[in-house]
Amino acid sequence: MIYAPPPHITDMIQTVREFIREELYPLERIYIPRGFKGAEAALEPKRQKVKEMGLWAPHMPKAYGGLGLSLTEFAYISEELGRSVFGHYVFNSAAPDIGNMELLLAHGSEEQKERWLKPLIAGEIRSCFSMTEPEHAGSNPVWMDTTAVRDGDEYVINGHKWFSTSADGAAFTVVMAVTDPNAQKHRRASMLIVTTDTPGFVLEANTPVAGHVGEGYFTHGEVRFIDARVPTSNLIGEEGEGFILAQERLGPGRIHHTMRWIGIAERAFDLMCSYAVKRELSPGNPLSHQQIIKAWIAESRAEIDAARLLVLDTAARIDEQGPYAARNEISEIKFYVANMLQHVLDRAIQVHGGLGVTDYTPLAYWYGHERAARIYDGADEVHKMVVARRILREYEKRQ
Ligand SMILES: Cc1cc2nc3c(=O)[nH]c(=O)nc-3n(C[C@H](O)[C@H](O)[C@H](O)COP(=O)(O)OP(=O)(O)OC[C@H]3O[C@@H](n4cnc5c(N)ncnc54)[C@H](O)[C@@H]3O)c2cc1C
Repeated sequence: MIYAPPPHITDMIQTVREFIREELYPLERIYIPRGFKGAEAALEPKRQKVKEMGLWAPHMPKAYGGLGLSLTEFAYISEELGRSVFGHYVFNSAAPDIGNMELLLAHGSEEQKERWLKPLIAGEIRSCFSMTEPEHAGSNPVWMDTTAVRDGDEYVINGHKWFSTSADGAAFTVVMAVTDPNAQKHRRASMLIVTTDTPGFVLEANTPVAGHVGEGYFTHGEVRFIDARVPTSNLIGEEGEGFILAQERLGPGRIHHTMRWIGIAERAFDLMCSYAVKRELSPGNPLSHQQIIKAWIAESRAEIDAARLLVLDTAARIDEQGPYAARNEISEIKFYVANMLQHVLDRAIQVHGGLGVTDYTPLAYWYGHERAARIYDGADEVHKMVVARRILREYEKRQ
């Protein structure tokens, strides 16, 4: 096998797989139908258990309380965590916190690391990320209205954001705001930390998505900044670096997302095959005897395996050469794996018939919520356009 997991993490993969199956699968059936009400409280003992097992925050360096896994190593773990809707949250490696941890680790000041990164890694606080605005196309992120105007040793922030995932209950957000409207378009904005108890930070609503408003971590917040004042020391990196940092945050983020989607696809595949051999159309005639079901199973197997190879290859390239060298592959996996996930979930639901659209399995929840996989972190069309443009540029040079 080209991409067999490194020997030193195979036991860890097995332990994580068993934990997810035994401890988290049973909670899904309770909390998905409730729209996640009460889920965080039920998950807290599981988080403690993960800490006791020494598996907490596997993506973070050991010096910060994590396991110090490389991006490629964590990719294997991320797949295992993805098999449950609760996996990443319980191991404290869920978006948007994971992206903010990576951001602060790489670019936070010592004060920011002490005040926000360490408690975030310890799981004492949560965070969110506020970039997208309802009034402007998120696909063109440089076009935004939110401003951060310097006033002495403070910034005064005004703006309107939505889809700030997990804002409900977060201790702080990382907001993208224009700090210099006259600068070149990619140097106009900066990233700033705004604690959610700052006067002028308003969580207006949790946006309903696919029939769920959610609760706490499992929400998407619409927020307003109304003359919200933060000290200049809350600036991450340098003024005008917002888009550079956003790109950096998204590179590894796409490995995390796509491996999570592969984990979801594996679970859907498992459910599909288990149900196909169990459900009988007539005595002694299970669904699995039907040719069309066999075709769906074979197609799904091939698609998941192909997706995993592509993602692991991209992760290895990022580890070896950095995100910039892997920018084409990062875009390719984003749309390729998101579409693979949709195909596999759709087939798994179809095999389950009416049961497939209930909340008695996680399939319908994922089908509704992970439809967004083709939209967030760059819509399919944007990634395809970027990849094709780079390829064609080489051909144009040859004319
Ligand atoms: C579940 C979920 C979670 C999210 N979490 C966060 C978060 O935590 N923080 C945050 O800041 N944002 C978040 N977002 C927002 C997300 O990043 C945006 O939705 C995304 O960037 C797309 O922007 P938009 O919704 O404004 O769509 P638009 O930019 O208005 O695009 C609409 C559609 O137009 C098409 N399109 C766009 N550009 C092109 C093109 N060049 N060529 C052809 N077609 C095109 C695409 O099909 C696209 O879906 C989240 C979104 C979702 C759905």
